Amino acid sequence: MVLEFWDNEPGDQHDEFDDWTSRHPDAFVLNYLADDRAMLHKAVCAKLHGPHQNPSEGKSRTQRRKLCCDDRRFLLLRGAKDTVSIDVCQSCKP
Ligand SMILES: [Zn+2]
Repeated sequence: MVLEFWDNEPGDQHDEFDDWTSRHPDAFVLNYLADDRAMLHKAVCAKLHGPHQNPSEGKSRTQRRKLCCDDRRFLLLRGAKDTVSIDVCQSCKP
């Protein structure tokens, strides 16, 4: 199953995303940098959990669309459906 976290109201998905990734440390996240471009990370990658992304400061982790899944291959197939070009994070090497 692929889950989507993406703010409707500023910051409204931030806590759900943090909660889900902390409960699924072995899962994967597609972080959309643009409509047609995304980066694949491990759920625990530090690049997804920067301390500067704080809703109380008007910045949310889920300002950018995120698709999450326990299954790497399934997530990549789902991303390919959106004709997304997908790069792999060189920091967490998912
Ligand atoms: Zn990463």
